[in-house]
Amino acid sequence: MTDPRRSLPSVDRLLQLPGVAALVARQSRASVTGAIRELLAAVRSGRQSPPDDWEAAVAEVAERRDRASLRPVINASGVVLHTNLGRAPLAPAALAAVMEVARGYSTLEYDLPSGARGSRHDHCGPALAALTGAEAALVVNNAAGALVLALQTLAAGREVIISRGELVEIGGSFRIPDILARSGATLREVGTTNRTHLADYAAAIGPATGAVLTVHRSNFEQRGFVTSPPPAELAALARERGVPYLHDVGSGLLLDLASFGLTGEPRVPDAVAQGADLVIFSGDKLLGGPQAGCLAGRGALVAACRANPLARAMRADKLTLAALEATLALSAEPPRALREIPVLRMLTLDPETLAHRARDLCDLLRQAAAGRVELELLPGVSTPGGGSFPGAELPTTLVAIDPGPAGADSLALRLRLADPPVVARVHSGRVLFDPRTLADSEHAAVAQALAQALTEPA
Ligand SMILES: *Cc1c(COP(=O)(O)O)cnc(C)c1O
Repeated sequence: MTDPRRSLPSVDRLLQLPGVAALVARQSRASVTGAIRELLAAVRSGRQSPPDDWEAAVAEVAERRDRASLRPVINASGVVLHTNLGRAPLAPAALAAVMEVARGYSTLEYDLPSGARGSRHDHCGPALAALTGAEAALVVNNAAGALVLALQTLAAGREVIISRGELVEIGGSFRIPDILARSGATLREVGTTNRTHLADYAAAIGPATGAVLTVHRSNFEQRGFVTSPPPAELAALARERGVPYLHDVGSGLLLDLASFGLTGEPRVPDAVAQGADLVIFSGDKLLGGPQAGCLAGRGALVAACRANPLARAMRADKLTLAALEATLALSAEPPRALREIPVLRMLTLDPETLAHRARDLCDLLRQAAAGRVELELLPGVSTPGGGSFPGAELPTTLVAIDPGPAGADSLALRLRLADPPVVARVHSGRVLFDPRTLADSEHAAVAQALAQALTEPA
């Protein structure tokens, strides 16, 4: 028996194949040579059998190697704020602002009338203050950073009073007690996991107190025998005793979404009105903008944070500031914000529109499947995700595929390996597509990915 692995073509011979030569013209000789070497090594080691069509095999490896690591995916999961998929997609106006500023030079730190140095903090700060009712506001890289900055500025070397019910983990390696320790403050726990009273805070405030901190439970719910003092009462207590009250609200919700059945998430303007001295929130959750951390509150405290050298280490870049400024401008007009900020639009889609879109998607997917799998429409729910509205279940209509013996996990994997990748949900042996997070313009690509996923050998 002859082992085909022993008569493999050479790198040079493969480079001369017409299809491979065309690839060299498009990419570069070095990158295509790298792809050929990778392919030959895989065949030689037996990880891959010798291809019948070498041109196609080289092209496949070269194209995979040529693709960016960070690339767009189609989110068919229905999870609107998916942290692993980059949280909030930006509004068209925010994208345009990023392009404009990225293309050339800008007024990032330049004051046009005087021709002298300006401050990057002057771009979004005033708009954020106006939208939240705060005296001043500051933008840094993310909310975790904003919290470190606030604690380090106001409470380093002192105690920070926090309820035992709020010593939470927000997500991968972000735990409130660890953040507190790293900012140089000492944790002073009060109350119990389920119940903390105003009197618990009152008894703990003393000469060593640097700040009182409350943290919104943004990714879980407590129900039953549970209590904590209203923020306004805590604010009054802190003011009376002369200590700053910091409120980490997390999601950065500016608008009132109660009429869409979305309640329980603190709005930033409410937290400011209730008297928190500094309110901390993200830019890329319910605010619907770029990754950013915002601090809004009393002028003197914002100024102190801004003057902290750590603020320089956490400063937001011009692309972030451009996107955030444009998103804030939309937020000033709520009806427009609901239409144009993708996160808000997706969260507030009505069930009839979703059912209609699910039917359209199902028709396209059925054509693509060409009888190879069963498809049906199912009532279901979407989750907001990303530390917002925990427990909220938004009614939607799902397109469900039963892949039979091939298995749902295997089909979902092939969909993720499509180009562009499609991220769907797997539940009870079925692959589920939720139209909530799919633009109409993405339906065709989902259908194409499905056709391809069902064609390829297992
Ligand atoms: C998400 C969240 C944060 C962290 O926000 P990032 O912008 O991701 O750093 C902090 N606090 C709360 C309550 C959150 O929900």
